[in-house]
Amino acid sequence: MTTAVSAPAERRAPGSDATDSGAPHGYADELSAVLIDGATLQAKIAELAAAVAADHHLDTPPLLVCVLKGAVMFVTDFARALPIPAELEFMAVTSYGSATSSSGVVRILKDLDRDITGRRVIIVEDIIDSGLTLSWLLKNLATRGPAAIDVVALLRKPEAVKVDIEVDYVGFDIPNEFVVGYGLDYDERYRDLPFVGLLGEHMYR
Ligand code: 5GP
Repeated sequence: MTTAVSAPAERRAPGSDATDSGAPHGYADELSAVLIDGATLQAKIAELAAAVAADHHLDTPPLLVCVLKGAVMFVTDFARALPIPAELEFMAVTSYGSATSSSGVVRILKDLDRDITGRRVIIVEDIIDSGLTLSWLLKNLATRGPAAIDVVALLRKPEAVKVDIEVDYVGFDIPNEFVVGYGLDYDERYRDLPFVGLLGEHMYR
C-alpha cells in the first residue's frame, strides 16, 4: 500500500507558527520556508505506523533498518508510533556525488550488526530523490536472505526519481527541491530542525 500525499502547498516563513517554536535558535535567517511543519510530520508518521502495523500480523517483530544519518529522526518517531513491537538496526551508507545530489555509487560506512536471514525487514528512509541509493540498498539486503523487505520513506520527489522501485509506504510527495531539517542536512547542518524546510538561496556555496 502506498499512502503518499502531496506536501501542503502552502509555505510559511520560518518562525511564523507555534509548531516551529522548537527550532534551534540561529537558523531563522538561513531558511526561506517551512515546507512541512512538525505537527503535520507527526500526524503523517502516526498514519504510516498504523498502516505498517495493519499489514504486519506477525509472530516475529519486524526489523526496522534505519539508514543513517538522514532517517534518524524519522525512525525514532516512527518506532514509537508503531503499535506493534519492532527491533531497530542501523546502517550508514554514503553515495558519491555533489552536496545536493547522489550518484548511485554507494559505499557502506556502517553495516548491520546482525544477520537478517528469515527476518521481515522494513527499510526506513528519509527521502527518495533519484532512488539510486534505495535501489542499491534493496539489492544489497536481498542478497542476505530476508523473508521480506518493505520500504517506508518519509519523503519522495516524484519528479527526480530515476529508477523504477516500489516503495510500500510514503509520507509526502514533495517538489523537486533540496530540503533540510528533521534529519536532513546541508553540509551536516539543519538535521536538528523539528520540521522540513527550504534553505535560502544565499546559503548554497
Ligand atoms: P537518492 O539516491 O534517492 O538520490 O538520494 C538519497 C539520499 O540523498 C537521501 O537518503 C538523502 O540523504 C540525500 N538527499 C536526497 N535529496 C535530498 C534533499 O532534498 N535534502 C537533503 N538534505 N538530502 C537529500
